[in-house]
Amino acid sequence: MKKILVGTHNKGKFKEISFLLSKNIKKISPKSLNIKSPKETGKTFVANSKLKAKYFSKYTNIPIISDDSGLCIKALNGNPGIFSARWAKKHGSFRKAMKFILKKMKPKKNRSAKFVCCLTYISKKRKICTEIGVIKGVISKKILGNKGFGYDPIFIPNSSQLTFSQMSKNKKIMMDHRYIAFKRLKRRVKTL
Ligand code: IMP
Repeated sequence: MKKILVGTHNKGKFKEISFLLSKNIKKISPKSLNIKSPKETGKTFVANSKLKAKYFSKYTNIPIISDDSGLCIKALNGNPGIFSARWAKKHGSFRKAMKFILKKMKPKKNRSAKFVCCLTYISKKRKICTEIGVIKGVISKKILGNKGFGYDPIFIPNSSQLTFSQMSKNKKIMMDHRYIAFKRLKRRVKTL
């Protein structure tokens, strides 16, 4: 059976990427190979996604798929953006980071936001492919829903009235930024 390293320690991302990949591929986590995460020193989603894939490729010779993603809020100058995971760490949890965001958003009229995902694939022959997916929406007024992960409870995509966290798991996975990036990648890498 073909194998792929799904290069993330984030359980939510691991589940989503594994769901999208072909059932005929065995999904391996970095944790199961005792591989830690690299420092995210890049200034963009693309730079960090490539950096992660290249880092993981040093530890294994199977193909890799890595993800760098985050929530960009217009009224907060695009933040937390590439710092999405770091904001949660800084505030103590995602719930606390979301409360902080909602407080900052209170006086703002423009609640536009987008989720961005950059996926990088490194083949067995070490060819690199990178694709980006974006989904636009707004920041909700409250933390709503109990499904999904990360900032899902405060993001309402434009095509819906519900936050990602209020939707069924499959509905969210089949419409989000990761899915859009994955579809693009799959056009180039047919075996995914
Ligand atoms: P990083 O790519 O490891 O820097 O982490 C990105 C962070 O962005 C994650 O820890 C989540 O907090 C957030 N994020 C990325 N994609 C999603 C998503 O689909 N739903 C909710 N939060 C997400």
